[in-house]
Amino acid sequence: MKYEILYRYGAEQLRQANIPEADLDARLLLEAVCHTDRNALLVHGDRGVERGQEEQYREWIETRKSHVPLQYITGSQEFMGLPFQVSEHVLIPRQDTEILVEEVMRELHDGMTVLDMCTGSGCILLSLLHYSNHCRGVGVDISKEALQIARENAASLSLEAVFTESDLFAGLEENVKFDILVSNPPYIASSEIPGLMEEVRCHEPLIALDGKEDGLYFYRRISREAKPFFYRGASLYFEIGWDQGEAVSLILEQEGYREIQVVKDFAGLDRVVKCIFWEENHV
Ligand code: GLN
Repeated sequence: MKYEILYRYGAEQLRQANIPEADLDARLLLEAVCHTDRNALLVHGDRGVERGQEEQYREWIETRKSHVPLQYITGSQEFMGLPFQVSEHVLIPRQDTEILVEEVMRELHDGMTVLDMCTGSGCILLSLLHYSNHCRGVGVDISKEALQIARENAASLSLEAVFTESDLFAGLEENVKFDILVSNPPYIASSEIPGLMEEVRCHEPLIALDGKEDGLYFYRRISREAKPFFYRGASLYFEIGWDQGEAVSLILEQEGYREIQVVKDFAGLDRVVKCIFWEENHV
């Protein structure tokens, strides 16, 4: 079948199933199947698609119709200009999270040690390591399956990082210390989960989204339990939900952190909170 006709079929199927961005998803799925890019549709629409690829495409369209996110079908998502492998065991890297990485990069110097708490696919830690020199990175997650993906991402990007299975800090060696702690923890209040779009609610890992009662559970625990793992003057960076800037700042203030700042994303919404760890008697 001709490329363009197959594309039209896919787009129509997705439209009928009320998939948001039906045309875009139909095109991206076809490109992933045929290893083509945008030009294929623009200038080579009448090229033929092999039978096997056509079958694969029809299958993927069916899967997308049941609201499985595009990235879980193709198995990848770009983040900070780098390709990351994803599966249903990890949150799909969000563009908003690039703000978090960019904030860390302002302070990240060669040779620093970075801890990424709740690392998931590893996209935050691995981007930081890719764009710096001689930094030591540790990624922690409670999910074995997520860590497997993170390790594969490190390998395919030729980066070295340590990925540790641990319930927050419980499994970390006692005397390792870090210059930077970055985290995009689960932060959706449990009561808000039923209102999320089907793609997120039914397919992304709940364990990566659910911030318990008020969505702030992990900010409280991380800011309290991180202290023994900081060098004095270390920086802490959290991604937050748009309405959590004040509440997370207050938690950090109560835990004694300094220079607490909220950073907005491109939509003008609160997205990151950063601060400094400084206790007089801490070495
Ligand atoms: N930003 C994500 C979402 O809107 C949530 C990420 C998280 O809980 N860390 O689905």
